[in-house]
Amino acid sequence: MTEKDYVELANLLYPDAQDTAFYLKKYKPRNAKGEVTRIAPSPTGYLHIGQLYQAVIHRMVADKTGGIFYCRLEDTDTKREVENAGQIAYDMLVRFGLKPDEGYCGDRREIGEYGPYVQSKRIEIYNAFAKELVKRGKAFPCFCAGSENKEEILKRREEELEESNDIEVKDPCRNLTLEQIKANLKAGKKFALRLKSEGNVTKTHEFVDRIKGKKDLRENAKDDVLIKSNGVPVYALAHVVDDTLMGTTTIVRGQEWFQSLPVHIELSRAFGFKPFKYAHTPNICVIDEKTGNKRKISKRKDPFADVRFFLKQGYPTTAIIEYILNLLNSDFEVWRKNNPTLPYTEFQFAINKIGVTNPMFDFAKLNDISKTIISRYTAEQVYTNALNWAKEWNEKDYEIIKQNKANLIKVFSIDRGGDRPRKDITKFDEITTLYNYVLPNFKPKFNLNLGNVNKQKLKEFLTDYANNYAQQADNQAWFENLKQVAGNHNFVDNKTYKQNPSAYAGNITDASKFVRLAITGAENSPELYSIMKILGKATCVERLNNLIKKLK
Ligand code: GLU
Repeated sequence: MTEKDYVELANLLYPDAQDTAFYLKKYKPRNAKGEVTRIAPSPTGYLHIGQLYQAVIHRMVADKTGGIFYCRLEDTDTKREVENAGQIAYDMLVRFGLKPDEGYCGDRREIGEYGPYVQSKRIEIYNAFAKELVKRGKAFPCFCAGSENKEEILKRREEELEESNDIEVKDPCRNLTLEQIKANLKAGKKFALRLKSEGNVTKTHEFVDRIKGKKDLRENAKDDVLIKSNGVPVYALAHVVDDTLMGTTTIVRGQEWFQSLPVHIELSRAFGFKPFKYAHTPNICVIDEKTGNKRKISKRKDPFADVRFFLKQGYPTTAIIEYILNLLNSDFEVWRKNNPTLPYTEFQFAINKIGVTNPMFDFAKLNDISKTIISRYTAEQVYTNALNWAKEWNEKDYEIIKQNKANLIKVFSIDRGGDRPRKDITKFDEITTLYNYVLPNFKPKFNLNLGNVNKQKLKEFLTDYANNYAQQADNQAWFENLKQVAGNHNFVDNKTYKQNPSAYAGNITDASKFVRLAITGAENSPELYSIMKILGKATCVERLNNLIKKLK
């Protein structure tokens, strides 16, 4: 075909499409000082933990360089689309503190000069750029999908694919003459638009990925579909066109896209666009319970693939973000240790500090980070966060937390505020069990295991302690009092016991252990003195008497 034929063909295929110059002029180059990043969720139901992980990179890179982070909704796969999913994805970004500066922000709302930011509203733009490719002789219509002997064609393609190792496929329709194409169009046949690849698989060129580093990249040699026969563009075309018009500088995306990178590069060159910087991220993995092998987090197998899981469990959102920062930049942990009170946004995040190995998702580590974060809250902050969590996710806890504000704030205050605050709350769904003993009508449940403590003596001690219980001035006085009453009933320290075994009822630790069990139902708790003070004399005595009854 001659150049004139290509122009004629372009007009035949896309008679109504604008000239690309129109769009290239309409969307001015950005004057952002730094890097422009984007998240491009497909509305398939929820925001995946892997997308959140990438969004941390997007947000941090834009912030650290004085750039922009925007959101584009990639809703061209209508088959997989789930109602309201775009809204959910956007809402999650906001909830996790990663709000984009621009773009799609929930249903029917957009901010910014580079829209529409929803792909289904950009079909005319894709058509314009498709037309331009045809004009340049770099794309051609393929009628196979709609043709009668479709199966045969598909089979042949498959064979070709196998032979060529999935990398070199020159589509037969690339050789149709203008007359043949005209005849097909006249007969009303639908067409898909394919790239007329000019690459040679045996040729490679050097490519630098911001995460993977230097790579030898082979050329693309596949006549890939760019626009399907239903008029919807595939990822490659939409990515190259949208990211160019929207001024993205840095494409941060999952490494599953790395293998189709040669097509994206050829396509971008075919348009004469400025190349993007790419950063292909490693995938967060888990050990598969059944096989014992490392695998990608899976939507079907791992409930936490959906980031709402973490909200539902009551993790503070910053715990998830700081955990992700840990996975991304290994020096984050040391920075956090040295700067316990700074917001994570102050950390010197950098793409080139991201490792290439797929990190493992480790709940133990996440829980530790979460505990540390909550331990630095004020008691009031713990209360408000717990209440807000319960209001959204747990009606029963909500009522309990709402009705027991005073006691809960008092118990959250124990061991809080100093240099080494108590680290016991991992997530807000634990509050009502972890601190059940400050709730009214609490009945401690525990297995009574006396060990070598003398039952009769224990009973005598507890009775004396309950009958004469008085609130002490401070923790030290409380302990002295406990020691004294226990001592009166032969609860002695180990040294005294060794000297005079016949006088042994149990040791002092045993004495406080059983008081703790009576009061909290647990062997570990924050400072018992403070808890008893919160509960008041009547409740303490009642609980001590309940244990005494059990010792019959
Ligand atoms: N819509 C694509 C996805 O959800 C976006 C990939 C990209 O970031 O380019 O996987």
